[in-house]
This record gives sequence, structure tokens and C-alpha cells, in this order.
Amino acid sequence: MEAVESGWWYAAHLPEDRIIVTLMSDRDIVQQQRLSRPNAWMSALDRTHHVRQLVEGATPPLELEIQPAFSQYLDIMSGEDWLAVGDAAFKVDPLSSAGIYKALRAGIDAAEAIGQFRAGQEQALHSYSLQTRHQFELYLDDRRKYYSQETRWPASPFWKRRQGKITLFPTTGLYFQSSSRAIARLKQLKRYFSPHDLYRLCHLCNSADNSPRHASDVVAEFLAQTTQKLSAYRPIEALEYLIEQQVILTV
Ligand SMILES: Cc1cc2nc3c(=O)[nH]c(=O)nc-3n(C[C@H](O)[C@H](O)[C@H](O)COP(=O)(O)OP(=O)(O)OC[C@H]3O[C@@H](n4cnc5c(N)ncnc54)[C@H](O)[C@@H]3O)c2cc1C
Repeated sequence: MEAVESGWWYAAHLPEDRIIVTLMSDRDIVQQQRLSRPNAWMSALDRTHHVRQLVEGATPPLELEIQPAFSQYLDIMSGEDWLAVGDAAFKVDPLSSAGIYKALRAGIDAAEAIGQFRAGQEQALHSYSLQTRHQFELYLDDRRKYYSQETRWPASPFWKRRQGKITLFPTTGLYFQSSSRAIARLKQLKRYFSPHDLYRLCHLCNSADNSPRHASDVVAEFLAQTTQKLSAYRPIEALEYLIEQQVILTV
């Protein structure tokens, strides 16, 4: 593994004298640097120190495969007679190497919840989904800590997005101009929360007389209203994102 400004590389030997080489980055960075093109990707690989040495003498790829690997969770993880387990419930960053452990652990937890449900504990499936959702929140905290260990590129969007460095001042005034266009836009911006939660966050930005509110009040009220155990980072990150996307205005 090797960290670079635009993300991190992963390389490993495979059977039959083959090597897998992967660059983890973000879509906008890949587009800006044209990293989906083999030539640009190879040039980026040439600029590494360690991975370059590992692949020395290997035949370059004719084409690249692009796969999404972002962290994500299912809004609703259980119903009357079903549960989401493993990757179906939430997916973690490949850096964590935790997907298989998590899937096995979730299988055991789900089996226990199903057993309890069948024994008459009606809330068992719902409790499982709350607990699984909480595990995702704990995982996000962990991910922040791991990515924060890399300090060489403080201006890099890739690292900034994962390190959770807060730039929003508690006293910054926030304002949401509600319109059908803004609401349609929110549905496309479900990076940090579901559209429903993003919409709630936006609405908290305006006080009863429709004037802007301080960021700290918005965050406090959002956390007070939510039934999930969330760290304050989560609504703050979401607010920063909505400001960046010009859905929420700062005044
Ligand atoms: C390239 C890659 C590298 C990875 N490296 C690591 C690593 O080093 N360490 C690590 O811990 N994790 C790693 N992971 C993540 C890990 O593989 C997953 O987190 C883990 O396999 C999830 O297990 P799961 O049982 O939840 O889902 P899956 O392993 O995806 O199993 C789901 C199964 O359900 C089947 N299925 C889907 N739909 C249906 C259907 N309708 N009917 C019947 N069957 C269906 C699928 O075919 C699949 O077999 C990696 C993932 C990838 C893609």
C-alpha cells in the first residue's frame, strides 16, 4: 500500500505470476487527472515509490476496470420479516480490510436476532438494525482516525474528505432557500445522509421567523431530534458538504 496525494495504491501478487494493482481515489479526481485512461494511470503509477518497484517488468494493462468502493449503508436495514446482513447492510472502505470480518460478525448477530424474534421478542429485528446502524457510525469514527494519520497533503480533497477536519465555525449563520429545484438537488446529494435527513438539516437552518441560524444550533437540534446515536461530526460534515454544493448559504 502506498499513499499518494490523490488517494492510495494497493498492489499484491496473485497466482499465475500476476499482480493486481489498484488506485483508490474519488470520481472528480479521476476525471480531472484522466486516471481512467491507461496512459495517465500508468504515469501516476510511475510516480509512486514502492508500488512502482513491485510492478517493475510487468506487462501494463490494456484497459482498466473501474469499481465504486465508497462507504455506504442501507437506510432501512430490517422489516417485518427480513434483515440486511453484511455488505447488504453497509459497506466499508477497502482500507479497513474489515468486510469479511464484519460480514461474519453480522451473520452471527442476525442469527441471534432471528432466534429472539421467533421466540416472541417483537423488537429483536428492529434492535438489530439500530445496533448495525450504530456499528456503521463507529466505523466512520475509525475511518476518520486512520485517514488522519496521513498528514502530507493537507490540501488534497481526497484526504480532506476522509479526515473530518472541520472548517465550519459554530457561529456561522446558515440559511436554506427552499425551492423545488433545491429539493430535487437534495435527492442527488445523499453522500452523508438520506435525502430525508438532509432535508431536515436544511430546514433547521432557518429559524421560525425565517432568519439564518448559527451552525452550532443547527447541529445541536439535529442531534437532539435524531433517534440514532450520531457523533456531532456527522451533521457538521453534511452541512459543510451542503454549503460546498451551494444548497445551504452562509451569511
Ligand atoms: C476486490 C475486493 C477485495 C476485497 N478485499 C477484502 C479484504 O482484503 N478483506 C476483507 O475483509 N474484505 C475484502 N473485501 C470485502 C468483502 O469481500 C466483503 O465485505 C464480504 O465478502 C461481504 O460478505 P457478504 O456475505 O455480506 O456479501 P457477499 O460476499 O457479496 O455475498 C453475497 C452473496 O449473495 C449472492 N447473491 C446476490 N444476490 C442474490 C440473489 N438474489 N439470490 C441469491 N444469491 C444472491 C452473491 O452472488 C454473493 O455470493 C473485498 C471486496 C472486493 C470486491
